[in-house]
Amino acid sequence: MSAPTLNPLHPGEWLGMLGGGQLGRMAVHAAQALGYRVAVLDPDRHSPAGAAADEHLQAGYDDAGALTQLASRCAAASTEFENVPAAALSRLAQDIDVAPAAIAVAVCQDRAAEKAHFQKAGVPCAPHAVLRGAADCAGVDPALLPGILKTARMGYDGKGQRRVNDAAELAAAFAELGGVTCVLEQRLPLAAELSVIVSRGVDGQMVTLPVQRNWHVNGILATTAVPAQGIAAELQAQAQQFAQSLAAEFGYVGVLCVEFFVLEDGRLLANEMAPRPHNSGHYSIDACSHSQFELQVRAMAQLPLPEPRLHSACVMLNLLGDLWFDAQGHRREPNWAAVLRLEGMHLHLYGKADPRPGRKMGHLTVTAPTAWEARGQALAAARVLG
Ligand code: ADP
Ligand code: MG
Repeated sequence: MSAPTLNPLHPGEWLGMLGGGQLGRMAVHAAQALGYRVAVLDPDRHSPAGAAADEHLQAGYDDAGALTQLASRCAAASTEFENVPAAALSRLAQDIDVAPAAIAVAVCQDRAAEKAHFQKAGVPCAPHAVLRGAADCAGVDPALLPGILKTARMGYDGKGQRRVNDAAELAAAFAELGGVTCVLEQRLPLAAELSVIVSRGVDGQMVTLPVQRNWHVNGILATTAVPAQGIAAELQAQAQQFAQSLAAEFGYVGVLCVEFFVLEDGRLLANEMAPRPHNSGHYSIDACSHSQFELQVRAMAQLPLPEPRLHSACVMLNLLGDLWFDAQGHRREPNWAAVLRLEGMHLHLYGKADPRPGRKMGHLTVTAPTAWEARGQALAAARVLG
């Protein structure tokens, strides 16, 4: 069977977005730049994407009336929110093109299914076991300890995870996480963390962004640098190849992000996937010829996918709500003017009114001619932000 050919949507047509967070907001900007109109479905009246969209349907993701409205208005739909019920995507797919498909989103929502997908696609991942009840904990292979216990569903930014050293801690942590299905992973000696964004069209064409190197603090992404310095070119090519294999195995349409571990012995393992643009890909707005959001919109709208080119070295800093409080815990506004006075600064604020510690309020991408200069400027920006 030959791959379907592209049937591009016309400017002025409507795209639907499930979820109204910052990822949706940046997708709205990219869609509007290409002449599309966007309807966002999100229950929050103050949703960042809702504020930018041509229309904000303020309703739950399982609201039958709102889904019908979205399906009648839009030619295609996507999701920016990983935990949107797969049933909502299936409902939309009865009437319009949905990218990615509900089945791919469902796999990415469940760490057990995700690990099975890695294995099916021939992509190595951490040694692990799926624990469905207390009895599974008792019978666990001791080689998996010390390990990290992760709830199979609904985990993000390090939430829903416990580090466990022995069988007793495992049993206690499993109970503490509510006895829900979990994946226990062997705790691995990490040398680096990488991620790759791949976009795949309905015609099967795939393009990838350059490989991102990521640093997490307290389980939340803090910094991304591109190019991924210190990572061998062959390993980077391997990561891009793995990401493409994972997308192709699904027959995926849209943007998929795959996170990887590089182990101290040099091995590359897949960690997890997100069926959407990803925080680690935000740098592409300012440092690449085409951003992850444009790639998402192009895939949805059945437009050709360009091979994105990195035109500047960059460092992306996440701006968490913590920056909006001084050492005494009093509210303050970070000194944006002082940051923007530095060379190479690209500030993105998501329009969230209510800063909280750990909440993603925006990001700052620092671009420069060389990785060395980007790093220096990022350090200068971090100093100004305090
Ligand atoms: P989340 O959905 O919260 O991003 P991850 O599975 O990516 O969950 O885990 C968050 C972070 O925890 C990873 O980026 C990595 O730094 C660390 N981590 C996760 N799994 C392991 C592991 N098996 N061994 C060592 N570190 C890990
Ligand atoms: Mg992760």
